[in-house]
Amino acid sequence: MSQYNQGTDCIHAGYRPQNGEPRNIPIIQSTTFRYETSQQMGALFDLEASGYFYTRLQNPTNDHVAAKIAALEGGTAAMLTSSGQAASFFAIFNICSAGDHVVASSAIYGGTYNLFAVTMKRMGISFTFVDPNCSEEELHAAFRPETRAMFGETIANPALRVLDIELYARVAHQHGVPLIIDNTFATPINCRPFEFGADIVIHSTTKYMDGHANCVGGAIVDSGKFDWTKYADKYPGLTTPDASYHGVTYTERFGIEGAYITKATVQLMRDFGCIPAPMNSYLLNVGLETLHLRVPKHCENALKVAEYVKKHPKISWVRYPGLADDPSFALAQKYLPKGSCGVVTFGVKGGRDAAEAFMGGLSLASIATHVADAKTCVLHPASTTHRQLSDVELIAAGVAPDLIRFSVGIEDAEDIIKDMEAALNNV
Ligand SMILES: *Cc1c(COP(=O)(O)O)cnc(C)c1O
Repeated sequence: MSQYNQGTDCIHAGYRPQNGEPRNIPIIQSTTFRYETSQQMGALFDLEASGYFYTRLQNPTNDHVAAKIAALEGGTAAMLTSSGQAASFFAIFNICSAGDHVVASSAIYGGTYNLFAVTMKRMGISFTFVDPNCSEEELHAAFRPETRAMFGETIANPALRVLDIELYARVAHQHGVPLIIDNTFATPINCRPFEFGADIVIHSTTKYMDGHANCVGGAIVDSGKFDWTKYADKYPGLTTPDASYHGVTYTERFGIEGAYITKATVQLMRDFGCIPAPMNSYLLNVGLETLHLRVPKHCENALKVAEYVKKHPKISWVRYPGLADDPSFALAQKYLPKGSCGVVTFGVKGGRDAAEAFMGGLSLASIATHVADAKTCVLHPASTTHRQLSDVELIAAGVAPDLIRFSVGIEDAEDIIKDMEAALNNV
């Protein structure tokens, strides 16, 4: 546990230079590390000593930044991955094999949905998707004897629905499985899912954590609280010797606080190799140093934008968890009292054509397949990421043909709204 408050941890956690050392985290741009004897290196391979030997497994720059993210979330250990997609995959695959099953909220990022429902299904891992606001009975009914995890997003991208984390955690624990939360949109500044019972947190650091659209990346953080040994038969990968890693039993050697991340590092990263470049981790850290300043500004601007579009006669609907009449407002008050995120979704009257006319009229906001960085950007899923779907299919996927995903940046709110005003006059 950090001795400092979160704003201080944004600056200092994970790296404290000693006398005469660089104040910034050094970029260790080296594939390999030199040793004097083979015995020394052998001890590292056997996990008997800690140290670096090959950057695919571990690199000091990456580790400093991972330690900062662990501190911000209040976890015991963390690892960085080359993308958020890799983090989602590792988080599940670290504890699931062919034949296993996962219960997931249906309101999740489209890329995650595809990874789970299509690609991981081909690996023999099946998923049951539940409505994030379904009843407790419906949640229980989704579990099977072979269920090994539960998954959801604090604030869903792009549905902007807030998850009842405490309820999900309670149900997951009644079935003896961990709750994995994608905390990308909320960030630990607005919500720390471990405080509500979540066991593992993942991030697409590509979004607010980097915050400047510099580099794609991901992170996995362990709360260190889920007792794998209590359900040893469900998690043999953590509780019995790993033949692929010199017979080590992760829970015995690293305890319940360290087993999950150590296995993900020495086994999954070794085999799949989705390691971030040290340069990217350095850039991510520069972003993290201002996370506590940027996130409140994104939320402040987004609320102004949401209130502006709400009363505009050309807007048909708006969703933002910070609006008092939003369906997620009550959950947002509980889990995100400081603010939710910088993304607002809405529809322009006149449907698809009006949405395209609005976006074409923007000049400050750029059209980009991105969210959650400093510059305001906007996307019309129906004509880009989801363009292969018919209007009927779009509605079934929860993406209205007129849905505009507006990612509010940290420019001056007045200028963002003026730009929207001009574009709406165009419609
Ligand atoms: C973008 C995103 C991802 C995927 O992350 P990448 O870094 O693009 O691989 C996962 N979850 C959420 C909520 C996201 O917004």
